[in-house]
Amino acid sequence: MAAWATYLSLAAVLLLVQAVGRCSGAQDYDFFFLVLQWPGSYCDTRQSCCYPRSGKPAADFGIHGLWPNREDGSYPQNCNPDSEFDPSKVSDLMGSLRAQWPTLACPTNDGLRFWAHEWEKHGTCAEGVFNEHGYFQAALRLRAQLRVLDALRDAGVNPDGGYYTLAQIKDAIQRSTGFEPFVDCNRDESGNSQLYQLYFCVDAAGSRFIDCPVSPGGRPCGSRIEFPAF
Ligand code: 5GP
Ligand code: 5GP
Repeated sequence: MAAWATYLSLAAVLLLVQAVGRCSGAQDYDFFFLVLQWPGSYCDTRQSCCYPRSGKPAADFGIHGLWPNREDGSYPQNCNPDSEFDPSKVSDLMGSLRAQWPTLACPTNDGLRFWAHEWEKHGTCAEGVFNEHGYFQAALRLRAQLRVLDALRDAGVNPDGGYYTLAQIKDAIQRSTGFEPFVDCNRDESGNSQLYQLYFCVDAAGSRFIDCPVSPGGRPCGSRIEFPAF
């Protein structure tokens, strides 16, 4: 066979392998970001927020999502349109989801919309390791391991409207959990930079925390970071 023909058949085989990989839900990511949000910082912005139907959530970090990500910083999304969120598959987790993954978006709702969005956009890209129930269970379990608010409080970083440095926040969490988070800030109504989200990294199996292979981008926090009450 001529060299070009060999080359062409190799290329065809490669394309076929890639296509089969995609169709079989093969893993197309390297790790997860577990993203936590501080409700006080979601709510005190110009946009404001709405409490879910179950009432005002606890003053604690809630889950935003568990997001498959690649080491080059890119990420897959909406990987399986056939895998719609089905609340009946997580009925045993509803109480925990309401408490630890509360929605703050308006209009007031029961959280199903937020969870459906996260499952369909991110969860479906990890169907090789998690079905829907496993995905939500893993995020809840990982969050519970961190006890981030206790870590901050123990270091004197309290949600009291005071200002802290990025180093104070990162060091407190690193000392207590062993992992340094990425800190994402947003702005309150007056334009002050405030602690909004914390990004942690989890291995591709979704089982244990790891040092982050890449930073998530996000907004810079500046030198003074408000930690608003909720
Ligand atoms: P992502 O930013 O994960 O793509 O999308 C978040 C989506 O979930 C947005 O459409 C947002 O309106 C909705 N959402 C519902 N509740 C919340 C919440 O409590 N926090 C955040 N960040 N988004 C929420
Ligand atoms: P934002 O622009 O608010 O930071 O992000 C909007 C949405 O894009 C997030 O809620 C999330 O769904 C997705 N997203 C943003 N940054 C990342 C990232 O670094 N990794 C992943 N997997 N998703 C991200």
